[in-house]
Amino acid sequence: MKGPAFSYLFASELHQRLQWFASLRWLAAAGLAVASVAGPALGIHSAWPSLAVVAALVVVYNVYFWVRLRRDLAADGQYAELRLCAIRQMAMDLAAIMVTVHYTGGCGSPVLPFVVFHMAIGTIMLSTRLMYVIGGGTCLAAILMFAGERWSVLENHPLGSSAGSSGGLSCTLATPLLLALVFGVIYLVDSVTSRFKQRSLELHTTTEELIERTEELQRSIESRDALQRQKAHYMRISAHQLRSPLATIKTTLQVLLDGYVELGSADGRRLLGGTAERVDSLIEIVNDLLELAKMREGRSKAPWTRGVSLSQVLADIFDAKDTFAKEHQVELVPLFITERSAILDWAVPPDLVYAFENLIHNAIKYSKPDGGRVTVRQTLTDGSVVIVVEDEGIGIPADLVDDVFLEFVRAPNAKHHTAEGTGLGLSVVLEAVEMHGGTITAESREGVGSRFTVSLPLHHVPPEVQSMLLIGNANENAPTR
Ligand code: ADP
Repeated sequence: MKGPAFSYLFASELHQRLQWFASLRWLAAAGLAVASVAGPALGIHSAWPSLAVVAALVVVYNVYFWVRLRRDLAADGQYAELRLCAIRQMAMDLAAIMVTVHYTGGCGSPVLPFVVFHMAIGTIMLSTRLMYVIGGGTCLAAILMFAGERWSVLENHPLGSSAGSSGGLSCTLATPLLLALVFGVIYLVDSVTSRFKQRSLELHTTTEELIERTEELQRSIESRDALQRQKAHYMRISAHQLRSPLATIKTTLQVLLDGYVELGSADGRRLLGGTAERVDSLIEIVNDLLELAKMREGRSKAPWTRGVSLSQVLADIFDAKDTFAKEHQVELVPLFITERSAILDWAVPPDLVYAFENLIHNAIKYSKPDGGRVTVRQTLTDGSVVIVVEDEGIGIPADLVDDVFLEFVRAPNAKHHTAEGTGLGLSVVLEAVEMHGGTITAESREGVGSRFTVSLPLHHVPPEVQSMLLIGNANENAPTR
């Protein structure tokens, strides 16, 4: 739809007019063919075969434009190409008219008014300035031709009885008349259509704005719908995950309430113990869900902090996870202590800790029964830092590697390995990494080990901080959530 600033016609309208013009050209070609045959009998002695040749040429180039308009230029939105096509058609037509004028009496030719007709149509289709140029060129060509005929540089083809008579006089009249008509018609058509052109331009701009707004609206409706679907899906799986432990707890309590098992008996205590475990896992799920919700909703209130050392965060996590690693006979290998420590311009330390703690916790938790190594490697480039958490554990089945970042996804081997887990940890990790402008990928082979790669930009300024900086409220420690 977009065209140059002076385009007051929509591409589709210009296309329509050019097609109409091309249809008229068939008539013109037919007229020329008839005139070439009938001309000599009507006193136009030079009509045959010259007008037949012109007619054939008109047919040839009209076939070309006809096909192009129907095939290549049929689509909307090619204003520049259509405009070029219009200019070429006009140039070809004017050349054909000039040749016809030459063979039908020169400045006394009855074909001369067609020049004026073309100027009128051209002014409707193209810009006025361009039409003045085309009009000027046409008049110059006509004057040169008349002069050439007058001083016998070009052969004369006078009409019937006027042969050799008042050619000079009619040219003296015809030339200024042609000039006046060409420029007069362009001026007149322009002044008549200028209001329409102005309105058309306004309409064009408004339509473009309207289309842009509609597309924007469409996009926001689509993203709102996607969000609604995502929310519904999230609620459904959350409810589903909470329902089964709740149903088991209810059954156990009912058994105890109905007196089928004595509360103080060994069976009773076992049932209560199991119920307490279920409640613990429910609390774990609810906590993770809250963490996820907090991260998704509360970014604007997150405690964005300036200049956070990622290397320090990792070192603290290593200290905290030392005992847990020893329990699982896992050796923690810290390959992130480099000369240059990775400093993030802006970060939310609790969320960074959560993310890397989760990855390292998983790497230990899903280690094989006889232990293994968990390596955390850091590579620092100019603009980003890449952290790799690698283990030699149970791995992830190939068909689930891409899904582990979705809520509640737990691989069967992981469920079999340990009951501890909600399937929400990696969703929170992904959220935390993305809010820091980073990416995370997982690679794994079942039974061999897993590798999680996190890439974080060092100079990421989150939109929340940007807006804070803009309103001049930024300080090193924004209010905590
Ligand atoms: P969970 O609480 O179950 O560990 P996560 O969201 O942290 O939940 O992980 C989702 C699933 O991804 C896990 O249940 C497990 O199947 C798989 N997974 C994550 N980390 C590892 C790992 N280091 N080794 C093997 N499997 C893993």
